[in-house]
Amino acid sequence: MGDHFEIRDQDALGRIGELTVPRAGVTVETPALMPVINPHVRTIEPSRMQSAFGAEILITNSYVFYGSDDYREEALERGLHDVLEFDGVIVTDSGSFQLAEYGEIDVTTPEILEFQRDIGSDVGTPVDVPTPPDVDRERAEDELATTQDRLAVAEGVDTGEMLVNAPVQGSTYPDLRESAGRHADATDLDVFPVGAVVPLMNDYRYGDVVDVVAGAKRGLGRDAPVHLFGAGHPMMFALAVAMGCDLFDSAAYALYARDDRYLTVRGTEQLDDLDYFPCSCPVCADHTPAELRELGDREREELLAEHNLHVTFREMRTVKQALRAGNLLELVETRARAHPAMLDGYRALLDHADLLEREDSASKGAFFYLSGESARRPEVVRHHDRLDRLALSPGDEVLLTEGGPSDRYDESWNVRAPFGPFPRDLSETYPLTAEVPDRMDAEGYRAAAEGVARLAAANPETEFTLAHRGWPEAALAAVPERVDVVDLSG
Ligand SMILES: [Zn+2]
Repeated sequence: MGDHFEIRDQDALGRIGELTVPRAGVTVETPALMPVINPHVRTIEPSRMQSAFGAEILITNSYVFYGSDDYREEALERGLHDVLEFDGVIVTDSGSFQLAEYGEIDVTTPEILEFQRDIGSDVGTPVDVPTPPDVDRERAEDELATTQDRLAVAEGVDTGEMLVNAPVQGSTYPDLRESAGRHADATDLDVFPVGAVVPLMNDYRYGDVVDVVAGAKRGLGRDAPVHLFGAGHPMMFALAVAMGCDLFDSAAYALYARDDRYLTVRGTEQLDDLDYFPCSCPVCADHTPAELRELGDREREELLAEHNLHVTFREMRTVKQALRAGNLLELVETRARAHPAMLDGYRALLDHADLLEREDSASKGAFFYLSGESARRPEVVRHHDRLDRLALSPGDEVLLTEGGPSDRYDESWNVRAPFGPFPRDLSETYPLTAEVPDRMDAEGYRAAAEGVARLAAANPETEFTLAHRGWPEAALAAVPERVDVVDLSG
């Protein structure tokens, strides 16, 4: 792995990072959104991407230039930055997408990498094989082997200062994604796109997206910059950043606009179905949906594309601010309420508790308990792990209480959903300062009862009394029988 990425801040698996791009002479702050420029159809001019939207980096397809005599000569003569009139960072794809769509392309990895170098690309891409979801394992393994051969070829190409992508494939086999990640990380290539996830996203299979990304992340390790290839819908940015993805590309802003589709952080709307715009971007502030419907095709498409791009950049800023403030998981939890498939994605993320617990920062500003899923957050998992290591004196009688301390016991601890028991002197430390609802849910009580069980198991010679306020029977079933249970609310 190249040495061009530094992590500045972390929340869940998400991070604020700096990607150094030597050829452009700049660093790009991540997570970063790269609008996709189709050179044939410039719905929004690249120069405006910078001035009106703040884009620092964009992505275009070098194969589109390579495959056309006119475009190729112009790009070689003037350079890509001049042709596109964009002086930020330009990433180029290789034609792998065309390979996936049409079954063959007429270029090798050395040819396309040298071409990308010659037209001035800042980050180039070899020709990998994007294996779709759900193929049989043999095909996934064969195609992965081909991709890995191409990465080895790419390492031998003179790419100058251009950074080079090392795509991670493996279809929907998390263990193949993991070994692909480990292999890519061991190359001297620089940026790691997780490929061929678009079909999963198109089918709202966000749980599977999370498992695929988690597989790749396990192989790649913490310090690798990860590009979630083809993830341009703002509704999934919070989840994908919380999974540790650093770069995103959006073709969606333009493709959706062509079909009169309007992006929001809660999903996609048809322009025809809207009476009001739930947005304050310049387009939505100046037009009503009815006015937009009356415009000509080209103008309507441009304005919709502008709105789509505004909402996309705004969500990325929202995600980054949440990450910086340490409440990224609260944002993921909020976004997960927009669609049941997003909820699957969030629950799949929580299933990777070991990854989360390893990387999530141990101290943040505040923990907001927002739903039953909050009971599975890494802070709760970590507290429970800690209970295994908290030693109490054998033979002591210990009160675990939601009420005040009592002199009748050798020691009094607090107990609180969703964490369970903790010593009183920890009550002002994160995450035990959590804001929780007065009307706690079943999952929160259950997690607290499991905490009691963990502490009791770690201290078999200690006698425990649990004094709770109206915990439901289903939760109390997790408390071992040797713990005396008293209901303070009765
Ligand atoms: Zn808008």
